[in-house]
Amino acid sequence: ELSGWQRELREQFPIITGHPDLVYFDSAATSQKPRAVLGAVSEYLTTSNANAGRGAYPWANRTTAMVERARRRVGEFLGDTGREGSGVHFTGGTTEGLRSVARDWLTGLLADGDEILVPFADHRANLEPWLETQRLLRLQGVTVRLRGLPYQEVSGDYDHRALAAAAGPRTRFAAVTHVHHVYGGDMDVRRIREAVGPDVPICLDAAQSIGHLPVSVRELDVDFVVFSGHKALALPGTGAVWARDTRGPEFRPGGWQGTPNTAGIAALTAALDWLDAAGTERIARWTTALTARFTDRLHRLSPYEILGCQASLPAGSAVRRRHGIVTFRHRDIPSDDLGFILFSHGFMVRADSLCQAGAGDREGAVRVSLHVYNTAEEVDRLLTLLETLQ
Ligand code: PMP
Repeated sequence: ELSGWQRELREQFPIITGHPDLVYFDSAATSQKPRAVLGAVSEYLTTSNANAGRGAYPWANRTTAMVERARRRVGEFLGDTGREGSGVHFTGGTTEGLRSVARDWLTGLLADGDEILVPFADHRANLEPWLETQRLLRLQGVTVRLRGLPYQEVSGDYDHRALAAAAGPRTRFAAVTHVHHVYGGDMDVRRIREAVGPDVPICLDAAQSIGHLPVSVRELDVDFVVFSGHKALALPGTGAVWARDTRGPEFRPGGWQGTPNTAGIAALTAALDWLDAAGTERIARWTTALTARFTDRLHRLSPYEILGCQASLPAGSAVRRRHGIVTFRHRDIPSDDLGFILFSHGFMVRADSLCQAGAGDREGAVRVSLHVYNTAEEVDRLLTLLETLQ
């Protein structure tokens, strides 16, 4: 049954309410947008559109002020107050953000024999930039060793024993994912901090956590947060990097090089306002409850195998909760066929490639991913369909 709160929020997504026969279960790929975000784009483009950081007329000044406000807003949203957004720069998304940390910030800080921790079974966007850093440095005669952070199926978190073994005196940097894009659990980021110590910068790929659960740079004690606007109710081709320390070589914290995506930045501010007003804690309670409702029943359907964190472990164990993401396979039906069958019944899911590094045979799977606009009724309807495919 829908709570009144959720129904009110759902009604703010015109693409959802406008298609009552369709169910959008692909929010981990990109989210839908509330009216407030659409309105912010329209409002900006019809009242103030100009280039930012230049020009001495009201539209340009308003645009510059809007971008500055957006940087403060991102900092605030992440619990970093009092720095006036000085650690924030805008990107085209998480992939570009991670690349910018790797290339513009990290490369110049590593020396021969240094080691960095990187996740080997997460999204490729959080592996390839670090491999590129390693390649670039090798051309300069500097050898950097990548130590892998393996994911552990049973707990749904990184393998802490492997983490302890991989972290050492030469560790200079750690790249970590907050919520896994295939398995859906949130990683215990504080454990990474404990393993690497207070002085090693940690870069958090928050692509799947921003908008799904509170992300506080103080609580998590990380040095970079990288995310995509489009997965957090804002527009495609937008994202941001928050950095605790912006003094790295050639980093471009909030600079005015190039023309920023001003309409996208206006949308991002509106999305963060919307999320704060809705309450990320409440959103997290809603989406984790829906996810649990889905996995609890799917788990009992024998042809399906849920990937990642084992939901059968007793409640209260160290199993991480799933944040709106469930990936599974059918014993007999190939994932692209299953995706096609689901769509023929109106369900939009991700089928097949999930961009996971080192995935190998795991590539063939179906991912169902939710956001605040999804309902228990939609979840139950999908389960009923999956039951008929046994
Ligand atoms: N990291 C993770 C964990 C992701 O899920 C994604 C998107 N699927 C990305 C990075 C890349 O995000 P974008 O496509 O917005 O650059």
